[in-house]
Amino acid sequence: MAADYKKAIFPGTFDPFTRGHADIARRGVRMFDELIIAFGNNSKKTRFFPIELIMQKVNELFVDEPKISVKTFQGLTAEFAKAEGANYILRGLRNTTDFEYENTIAQANTQLYPKLETVFLITSPQYVFISSTIIRDIYRYGKDLRDYMPYDLSGDS
Ligand code: ADP
Repeated sequence: MAADYKKAIFPGTFDPFTRGHADIARRGVRMFDELIIAFGNNSKKTRFFPIELIMQKVNELFVDEPKISVKTFQGLTAEFAKAEGANYILRGLRNTTDFEYENTIAQANTQLYPKLETVFLITSPQYVFISSTIIRDIYRYGKDLRDYMPYDLSGDS
C-alpha cells in the first residue's frame, strides 16, 4: 500500500442506514482511496432492523462504487480502524447536538490511536431532519419510508 494511500472508515449503528448516511458516504469517498462503511455490532445493544438485511441493502446501494465496502465490527472503533490500517474516521454533523457528541468521541479515538484523524462532513440541508430514530418510529406505523431511506425494505421483513 502506497504511503499516501488514504483509507477511511465510516462507523455507525446504521439502524437503519438512511439517505443522510448515504450522502455522507458518497461525498466522503471522494476524499479517500477506500472507505469502509462499518456497522458497529455491539451484542449488548439490541437492534430494530436485522444487521444482515441492512448490510445487504447498503452493499447493493454502492455496487457502482468500488472504493466502498461494507463490514461489521465489535468493540472499539479506534481498534477496528487500526486493525484495518485506516487512519481516518468519517462522520456526519447535523447540528450542535451532534457536534458535542462527536467532539468527545473524536478526542477519545485520537487518544486511543494518535494517528487517527476524524473528518466531518456537514449534512446536506435536505437530510438534516433525517435520523434512524425517526425512521424506526415511522416504520412502526407502517408509513412510506422512501423519503428517508435510499432502498426499499417492503417485502424483506
Ligand atoms: P452512532 O450510533 O454511532 O451515532 P448513527 O448510525 O446514528 O451512529 O450515525 C452515524 C453517523 O452518521 C454519525 O456521524 C451521525 O452524526 C451521522 N448521521 C446521522 N444521521 C445523519 C444525517 N441525516 N445526515 C448526515 N449524517 C448523519
